[in-house]
Amino acid sequence: MTDPRRRVPSVDAVLRASPEDLSDRRRLTTAVREVLAAARTAGSEILDAAAYAKLARDRIAKGDAPTLRRVINATGVVLHTNLGRAPLSDAALVAIRDASGTVSVEYDLERGARGERHGHAARLIAEVTGAEDAVVANNGAAAVLLALAVLAGKREVIVARGELVEIGGGFRIPDVLTRSGAKLVEVGTTNRTYVRDYANAITEKTGAILRVHASNFTLRGFVAKAASPDLSTLARERGVAFIHDLGSGTLLDTARFGLGREETVQEAIRDGADVVTFSGDKLLGGPQAGIVAGRAEAIAKLRTHPLMRALRPDKLTIAALVATVAAYRDGTALETLPVWRLIAETPARLAKRAKVLAARLEAAGIPAAVVETRSTVGGGSLPEETQPSRGVALSASSAARAVGALRRADPPVISRIIDDRVVLDLRSVLPEQDEPLVAAVIGALVDRSGRTS
Ligand SMILES: *Cc1c(COP(=O)(O)O)cnc(C)c1O
Repeated sequence: MTDPRRRVPSVDAVLRASPEDLSDRRRLTTAVREVLAAARTAGSEILDAAAYAKLARDRIAKGDAPTLRRVINATGVVLHTNLGRAPLSDAALVAIRDASGTVSVEYDLERGARGERHGHAARLIAEVTGAEDAVVANNGAAAVLLALAVLAGKREVIVARGELVEIGGGFRIPDVLTRSGAKLVEVGTTNRTYVRDYANAITEKTGAILRVHASNFTLRGFVAKAASPDLSTLARERGVAFIHDLGSGTLLDTARFGLGREETVQEAIRDGADVVTFSGDKLLGGPQAGIVAGRAEAIAKLRTHPLMRALRPDKLTIAALVATVAAYRDGTALETLPVWRLIAETPARLAKRAKVLAARLEAAGIPAAVVETRSTVGGGSLPEETQPSRGVALSASSAARAVGALRRADPPVISRIIDDRVVLDLRSVLPEQDEPLVAAVIGALVDRSGRTS
């Protein structure tokens, strides 16, 4: 038997077989080496130098292709963490563009002196939530970390056992708490916790009571939890902080859209938390950010803490957040913020759009039918709550293969499989994306001869 490695051409031979004037010869050499190394593994078929040269060039092209791409979210999950959560409003996009140059992010134009980075969003957030003041960190986890580190310090933090949750992406409340320097004290049982459990656990070592929203599961049956106003009273009486991590943090009543009721930020503030924390890119519908809103005294401590410098948001985030929150102040959130436009879309309107889409796909030779689905809000809000939605089901010989083809479409379309059929759920698709969606699906599933794959 011959050793197959001897028959793989040399790097030089492959380079000679790639006559194109590639300005970056060093990159090509590296790619050729990698391709030949793979070829030398026993069992691979031996090709000629030109074929290896092409493989090397393909390898470079693939490496050059951007991996962060605009996609169409047809999963029916409105706030999809893997797909960037809330799409931004037009106003937020304009604000980002305007802020991308030189901008008065820390400059007071009245006084002509150094200004306050947090002031821009703080006033607005206070206005719409009823809080005295606010600061913004770069995500919800950072907001929780900051609140704990500053308000609880190295002291004990009391948390109900039923609220020691994992949010996803490895974010576990007990871990964040420990990382903040605080010491966790668990109270109650998994299903029931009373105010007296908290009261009994408070000692001179206690720094704070932490309440965490169950954002991705529900506790049902024989359950009890302490009311926030009671925890607030207890915390004040005993001189400890009351931190409420809302997670998603909605400013609008989700029950208006046939969903369960999610406690609003305004309610959490009214119920007496010293600070509430919530994300910018969940139901608020803005950029990735973590908002801490609450009592002026507590917020002032956060704002001046050294950790704030490490967790502060950039100018683009601040710009997008201000534009997003302004929509709530102006009463235009439902019409202008994509997250609410998606949630507020009625089944009748979704059905109408699905019908048009299905007809267009049928005309292109792709068997398609309108189907009823249940969509979810996602993004750590309203667990187990669904909304009636409509989608377009595609008949393909292999659903798994079609889902893959849609993922490689331009723009990529992220769909799901229901009962062995590929479904494009329109709940998470904005009406202005219907046209690009049709084009991408046709491009991906109809080959050049006009046959559907
Ligand atoms: C989502 C969530 C967080 C983390 O927020 P990010 O913006 O993802 O960092 C924290 N707490 C709760 C309860 C959440 O739902």
